[in-house]
Amino acid sequence: MKNFKKILITGGYGFIGSALIRNLLKNSDVQVFNIDKYSSVSDSESIEEILEIDINIKNRYKYFNLDICNYSKLDEAFNKINPDLVFHLAAESHVDRSIENPSQFLNSNIIGTYNLIEIARKYLKNNQDNKFRLLHISTDEVFGSLEENGKFNELTPYNPRSPYSASKASSDHLVKAWRHTYKLPFIVTNCSNNFGEWQFPDKLIPLTIQKILKGEKIPIYGNGLQIRDWLYVEDHVEALLLIAQDGKAGEDFCIGGNSEMRNIDLVRNISEIINNSSSKKHNLLELISFVKDRPGHDKRYAIDCKKIKSELGWEPKFKFKDALEITVKWYLDKPEWAQKVLNQANYQTQRLGLL
Ligand code: NAD
Repeated sequence: MKNFKKILITGGYGFIGSALIRNLLKNSDVQVFNIDKYSSVSDSESIEEILEIDINIKNRYKYFNLDICNYSKLDEAFNKINPDLVFHLAAESHVDRSIENPSQFLNSNIIGTYNLIEIARKYLKNNQDNKFRLLHISTDEVFGSLEENGKFNELTPYNPRSPYSASKASSDHLVKAWRHTYKLPFIVTNCSNNFGEWQFPDKLIPLTIQKILKGEKIPIYGNGLQIRDWLYVEDHVEALLLIAQDGKAGEDFCIGGNSEMRNIDLVRNISEIINNSSSKKHNLLELISFVKDRPGHDKRYAIDCKKIKSELGWEPKFKFKDALEITVKWYLDKPEWAQKVLNQANYQTQRLGLL
């Protein structure tokens, strides 16, 4: 990270934020500051292993336990840190939970983002820093749902259809309005579905793994034919670092995995990997259970990555099949981790988000 010395990450105890922090602590010598309120899906173990490697790494990392909805505390921490780069990932992130409890999503995703960019605006007024960047990490779900053809790109109009995607779309609009009006070096990224190690088991891939391991029914929403474009989290992190370093401030970037897959096929792949890795064979046909569809379930998401490929030379390094195998095997090797975070969150993989 040649341009930056002090990097602030919001949501650094979440799935993607922790992968970003591990990468920065391992592969650079920057100082890393993590602001996270430590919600039920957070886990510090995802970073602790790296901190134990050596004292220099530990000394380059600092955690602030705070809620980005608290303007004055966030303002104080931001100005104490004096960051020259911000990755904003703190958000409520589960569509099903947004259907059950939208207000939390509006608070963290919209008000929290407003607080952060307003603090950044005032900070930049007092600090001339030509290299400063703020990356707002968003999702492809803000664009709505696709039919069989076409892909989302940076020019696709917004059409959010769940409380989660509406709250993320609102935050994207705030960031874009602030950068346009106040001429701020903000970048918005919209990424497809991520998967990888350390993801809380309420999302499709780790949830399916838990269900198979426990011998419980795997709930397939509706007909299971919904399509998502999957990206391994390490590839997403590489894209974010490259955009921060070489992306033009004030622009948007779509990031995707070029790996579209129907949910039902993804579940099949996961069960195949588990069957090939253990002596106990699970009969998928007996495990699958088609359940009531998610209310307002989007049919298909897919990202056209032409811009990030042509401008920055980025494309996913990991083949979907290999990354899925790495991920599933990691969960198989760490059964106690999933149980620990599920207990901490008082969540036992039950169905969420029904009306
Ligand atoms: P996550 O739910 O695993 O982690 C989010 C983290 O943010 C948690 O540690 C939580 O405690 C923290 N947080 C939430 N509200 C906060 C608040 N008010 N104050 C401080 N901290 C708060 O989410 P994730 O999967 O790592 O996603 C990170 C970001 O990337 C989100 O903004 C999400 O919208 C976006 N994104 C995720 C995906 C995906 O597939 N996971 C894809 C594209 C974009």
